[in-house]
Amino acid sequence: MKVYEYQAKEIFAAYGMAVQPGFVCRTPEEAVEAYRKLGVELAVIKAQVHTGGRGKAGGVKLAKTEEEVKQRATDILGMDIKGFTVDRVLVAQAVDIASEFYVSIVIDRKTKGAIMMLCREGGVDIESVAKETPEKIVKIPIDPLIGLPDYLAREAAFKLFDDMTYVKQAAPILQKLYRLFKEKDASLAEINPLVITEQGQVMAIDAKMTFDNNALFRHPDIFEMFEPTEEEKKEQEAKDKGFSYVNLGGEIGCMVNGAGLAMATMDMIKLYGGNPANFLDIGGSSNPTKIVEAMKLLLSDKHVKVVLINIFGGITRCDDVANGLIEAFKLIDTNIPIVIRLTGTNEAEGRGLLKGTKFNVAHTMGEAGKMAVELCAKCK
Ligand code: GDP
Ligand code: MN
Repeated sequence: MKVYEYQAKEIFAAYGMAVQPGFVCRTPEEAVEAYRKLGVELAVIKAQVHTGGRGKAGGVKLAKTEEEVKQRATDILGMDIKGFTVDRVLVAQAVDIASEFYVSIVIDRKTKGAIMMLCREGGVDIESVAKETPEKIVKIPIDPLIGLPDYLAREAAFKLFDDMTYVKQAAPILQKLYRLFKEKDASLAEINPLVITEQGQVMAIDAKMTFDNNALFRHPDIFEMFEPTEEEKKEQEAKDKGFSYVNLGGEIGCMVNGAGLAMATMDMIKLYGGNPANFLDIGGSSNPTKIVEAMKLLLSDKHVKVVLINIFGGITRCDDVANGLIEAFKLIDTNIPIVIRLTGTNEAEGRGLLKGTKFNVAHTMGEAGKMAVELCAKCK
């Protein structure tokens, strides 16, 4: 679960980290009001969206008069940043930045624990630093039993600064960041940039946090901030209907019975050079209503160009599934090519029923994957 920058900063502040005073606003008028309340000369107007790269997209602007604040807020509100529409901005006291650094804590699969990443180049896209000059990023695994005591926090801070005055300020920030990461079950806590101000203060001017969904039950305060994205809403709807569905952004919609088979199906699509649109396990059932629901779910994703249905008939019989599909598609109006692979109990009967229909019937998984990818290529 993601939160907005202003929410992450509220959490930072609750842990005693210094953040700029600011207000979240939904209209240009509110932005002007916030600017008055701040009583500062220079303000920064920042788009609040569940994605980074706002600066580059023009979603972070400085303003030094009420007119400018109003103008900037008008420009930024309603803006589209990587598919997210800006519906609120943070109006905060602008900071005089002398230099920018990068700090984050994430879960690292290799060390099976939290890892702190530090970089002297902050404020830039960290993915490109990681790609082009990975040696500039220092990674420090954190032992969960030791945590980040003073000496380790200082050692980490020295990776960013040579000057002791900054190290002394940064070490407690790193400790607080780790404490909140751990206590709130975060999967990411990132400060990019952590800055040195012209006045010599070390300060977080951006804040990004992601939380582990499976731990939200023990953090009602965090869960309260949950605002599902369109994708997450769809995933929740699917869950309510008894499906497990994960949107993956590709073009081949998958409908499979069984989670393991669903994963193998996605692998197969990848093997043939395609991209799965989703993971969808419909469970063991040939019930047409369920198939209709699942198809509606798949087709509501506008990226889907081909649907691949992969069913293994164990207890579910293939002829039942074939009948279910035929019934279901009487109710679904779509021109999207459908590839079906049916195997298992009564597979010959099942395939017999599908003969002469608009479905593209495949025998093996490989054949199904290949067919789906080829049909998808033709649709482009
Ligand atoms: P992001 O682009 O989504 O990561 O948004 P950030 O909050 O990191 O802002 C992007 C960039 O805008 C920062 O790297 C800074 O260079 C600049 N910026 C953000 N806030 C301020 C501020 O208060 N004062 C100044 N001078 N620049 C800022
Ligand atoms: Mn940033």
